[in-house]
Amino acid sequence: MSKFSREITQTLEKKLEDTAHDLFDVMFLHLLTGPKDGPEDYPVAAAVLDRTGSIVLGEGIADDARTQTLTGHAEANAIIDACLDHSEHLTDGGIVVSTLESCSMCMGNTANRLGTDSLIAFVTSRREIEEMGHVNPRSSSYRDRPVQEVRLKNPELQQKGKILYGSVTRDPDTGISVVNRELLVKELENIGLKYQIRH
Ligand SMILES: [Zn+2]
Repeated sequence: MSKFSREITQTLEKKLEDTAHDLFDVMFLHLLTGPKDGPEDYPVAAAVLDRTGSIVLGEGIADDARTQTLTGHAEANAIIDACLDHSEHLTDGGIVVSTLESCSMCMGNTANRLGTDSLIAFVTSRREIEEMGHVNPRSSSYRDRPVQEVRLKNPELQQKGKILYGSVTRDPDTGISVVNRELLVKELENIGLKYQIRH
């Protein structure tokens, strides 16, 4: 029987939303002030939480383009981070929170390390990115999911997702992402968030 009920509680949903807000902040800061030493990664941030959503066990951002590792998705990096320091907690199951709908590899990694009844919570769906007229990162999620998926629909989170992924274009042939930093800063200022751009 699943460790999680089909309906997540309001308390848990609030914790997941708080984590997602933090992840967007990490991603915005990284994009605007972080190192830029190679091709740009599709900007995604993720965290692994214990099954109550109370403890952050690991965090990660995507670095597969920069490191040319194929596997360096945010969720995978967060799971690796969690395994380094908190592997004993992972046997109890857990929750992966991501700013973007997870791909099939990350769904599989979550099921492998956290169990098939774990949760994946995300804010922005791949379909939404397409509907915004931007290029969808190639890897798609799949229908027959081994983990339970939770869609966080807080309007502020949705707005942050729209701003983050609306500032990215991706060359369909090379797969290289380009973040429009000026647009990102402008849109963030429109919702009252100020970040210093790196030149
Ligand atoms: Zn992935």
